Amino acid sequence: MSFETRSLAELTGHDAFIRRHNGPDTDDVTVMLATLGESTIDSLINKTLPASIRLQGELSLEGPRGEHETLAYLKRLAGQNRVFKSYIGMGYYNTLMPPVIVRNVLENPGWYTAYTPYQPEIAQGRLEGLLNFQQVVMDLTGMALANASLLDEATAAAEAMALCKRANRKAKSMAFFVADDVFPQTLDVLRTRADYLGFELIVDAPERLEAYDVFGALLQHPGRQGEVRDYTALIDTAHGRNIMVAIAADIMSLVVLKSPGEMGADIVLGSAQRFGVPMGFGGPHAAYFAVTDELKRMMPGRVIGVSKDSRGNPALRMAMQTREQHIRREKATSNICTAQALLANLAGFYAVYHGAEGLRSIATRIHRLTTILAEGLGRQGATRVNTHFFDTLTLAGLDLDTVRGRALTEQINLRYGNDGTISISLDETTTAADVATLFDVLLGVEHGQTVAELDRLVVAEARQGIPATLERKSEFLIHPTFRRYRSETEMLRYLKRLENKDLSLTHAMIPLGSCTMKLNATSEMIPVTWPEFANIHPFAPDEQVAGYRQMIEELSHFLIEITGYDAISMQPNSGAQGEYAGLVAIRRYQHAADEGHRDICLIPSSAHGTNPASAAMAQMRVVVVECDTKGNIDITDLRDKAEQHREQLSAIMLTYPSTHGVFEENIREACEIVHANGGQVYIDGANMNAQVGLCRPGDYGGDVSHLNLHKTFCIPHGGGGPGMGPIGVKAHLAPYLPNHCVTPQAGLEATSSAVSSAAFGSASILPISWAYIKMMGARGLREATQLAILNANYIAKRLEGHYSVLYKGANGTVAHECILDIRPIKATSGISEEDIAKRLMDYGFHAPTMSFPVAGTLMVEPTESESRYELDRFCDAMIAIREEIRHIEHGEWTPDNNPLVLAPHTQADICSEEWTRPYTREQAAFPSDAVKASKLWPAVNRVDNVYGDRNLICSCPSIDAYRD
Ligand SMILES: *Cc1c(COP(=O)(O)O)cnc(C)c1O
Repeated sequence: MSFETRSLAELTGHDAFIRRHNGPDTDDVTVMLATLGESTIDSLINKTLPASIRLQGELSLEGPRGEHETLAYLKRLAGQNRVFKSYIGMGYYNTLMPPVIVRNVLENPGWYTAYTPYQPEIAQGRLEGLLNFQQVVMDLTGMALANASLLDEATAAAEAMALCKRANRKAKSMAFFVADDVFPQTLDVLRTRADYLGFELIVDAPERLEAYDVFGALLQHPGRQGEVRDYTALIDTAHGRNIMVAIAADIMSLVVLKSPGEMGADIVLGSAQRFGVPMGFGGPHAAYFAVTDELKRMMPGRVIGVSKDSRGNPALRMAMQTREQHIRREKATSNICTAQALLANLAGFYAVYHGAEGLRSIATRIHRLTTILAEGLGRQGATRVNTHFFDTLTLAGLDLDTVRGRALTEQINLRYGNDGTISISLDETTTAADVATLFDVLLGVEHGQTVAELDRLVVAEARQGIPATLERKSEFLIHPTFRRYRSETEMLRYLKRLENKDLSLTHAMIPLGSCTMKLNATSEMIPVTWPEFANIHPFAPDEQVAGYRQMIEELSHFLIEITGYDAISMQPNSGAQGEYAGLVAIRRYQHAADEGHRDICLIPSSAHGTNPASAAMAQMRVVVVECDTKGNIDITDLRDKAEQHREQLSAIMLTYPSTHGVFEENIREACEIVHANGGQVYIDGANMNAQVGLCRPGDYGGDVSHLNLHKTFCIPHGGGGPGMGPIGVKAHLAPYLPNHCVTPQAGLEATSSAVSSAAFGSASILPISWAYIKMMGARGLREATQLAILNANYIAKRLEGHYSVLYKGANGTVAHECILDIRPIKATSGISEEDIAKRLMDYGFHAPTMSFPVAGTLMVEPTESESRYELDRFCDAMIAIREEIRHIEHGEWTPDNNPLVLAPHTQADICSEEWTRPYTREQAAFPSDAVKASKLWPAVNRVDNVYGDRNLICSCPSIDAYRD
């Protein structure tokens, strides 16, 4: 061995992660640049990015740091959190995720790296998981239809309010009733929404509903103080007065309580968190949302439904997709896009694992221990505020300071009300020993009661907190799925069987344009399940969350440096929520400046559908700005419209680089025009992966942006969520960022109501983005952006002559993605972008984004994480498919019998006795060497969307359906 001349620092490899994250190595880069005819990567970037917006020098960030070093540092930070036992409740409970689910789903990239199931033939596994979740929700709520998750309980309540108004054509009132025992964080979010929907909120005791003329009402079940009520009569009276009723229900309580559906509720919603998902300082968790049959076609969010494939076999897919916001734009009734698919799957699997009997044992145990606690406290003369209960007791007359002192000594958090009450919520993790400790804390040590004695008494006297009329009589989870997988072996195989049907990043690149499917590194994911992050209640006292605070503060600083803004809010749980929060901040700012009348929002025609949908939710009027033939914003049209509306102009929403995949040269000018006419500039940050380290929206004219941390900053997509959509703002907007009524933040207006249930949104996934930035450092982040642009240009170049790239920048390059125009191919062959998408499955790939932002196109975004090897594999497949299309153009294959329109090919096709196709079975299923070596079989043939939408079935099909 010759003497090693590298220094110790170099050998330590602080920057080693950069090479792990970025796909192409130095040799790849050389070859790719040569293909493009570029001498250096800088020359490519200089051609692509307008000089006028280039960041001078490097971002000021620490790092890069090695993976182990980063995890060690983060572990120390996490150690500053103090994990006390929480009895706070209010929508967040301790829970036990079955280890077989932790390891095989939550910690498994086969599940967490998938995308929203837009391509159902290679997504049947997670579609089945989500259908299970819907079935659980329908059974427990007693409703006709459930969706596949919303972001959190509070936003679900806001969706319910909006749905009541839309559906209730008979009510003229603009007022909405909220029971005074609804969780305060839910009321906080309702206030924000109501402000901009023009609704008045009336908060009063539930039984006072009769006194008001309202279009709808929200009730909490059980109430904030734990009260369990039968709402049947109240709902009946409300219906008689044309008032629709939504119930926010605790999912665990529904296991033993009469369902809200049986009480007559129109909408039932809530959090599925306590079905096995850790509290995580606020999230992520799935909210559920269920409606009556009459409301099913007005359902917000995504709904999984049963349809059939081209062989007539049952097949799952997202139902009623044409209602989605990106198609309906400003007519959309909700801006929900990314939801909580992974978390819904986790909650669904929790129910599969336990089945009805297991859930009944858990809920009954919780209730038994609560009854024991209630009994013991009652015997010692404690005053209970709630008469009936499931898991929560609210006590009055105790000395708060004494109890708090004893609780802290025992490392216990109770809920201390402003009115001097103490509430205690028990959960799945509570034991008899815990109840004994609670007696000591609440009563002092001399109470002389034992849990065993009290238990005997409770059983002997058949005592319980639930009135007999409110006991659940109806069956639930009777479908075989909820019986068959009780042994761990069966469960393990079920999870693996589902996983094996789906294409994720563990198989191949997922070149979905605008979605940024990049590496979700294992070291970034590891901290998510650390108990110091997972087991913290969002309303835990500040002193216990120092680790979280510091991590969030550091991440905020990183993001401020990366974006050029002055302040960040971590509250929004998705990009679309960020848009809404950003527009609300603009409206609040303008209102404070006596410019509240400004309500016009300019949006280019190329924008993502969430932009106009969010603007509509913020009660803005959308004015569309046209694009020119090159895909750029038509600056003349922008100037005309900005001037025409200058008195009413509130904002513009721009995406940069545009969804057309180019850096517009005149972005600064566009921002200046809007500012000159009194408007604010919202830059949609979904495309930050083309900018980090090269330019900053805060520098070239943005006032506010959201960042999709699940795109640019490595939070995995989870098959359709979780996500995080923090917003960065300039200083003038900072005071108007969303605050939180339970955990108010310094520096924010006290009157600024919230947009999410928890102050920091889905806090427990923030360490993913934190670790990514820490391990990459300024240089790594810049290189990642450069490589993302190089990769996209390499693809555009290799596909040249086979497909036409729709839009290019001034110097003939694309940004980090490119749009392939399939319309000319359709004209000559009849083959559509969808046929190509399905044929790509036979080649082992997930399709690019279909028909967004331009109908009849495919938008390809490779990201920096894909190596040249993988890019070539994809390009080879695309080129081979183009050759196949030529067979149709040349008349060798007919338009209705060729491997494209009959794609994807399944094992059923290949094994069928009959084969009357003009291509071989091998061409059908093994069209490339790569798939010969490793094949992911599409689980079903092409799915019939129309059939499923006409015959809407969104529950688990009976086993018979699979037999005939
Ligand atoms: C993904 C995306 C959004 C929406 O973000 P979600 O996190 O899915 O809500 C908005 N705009 C653009 C351009 C996007 O690509």
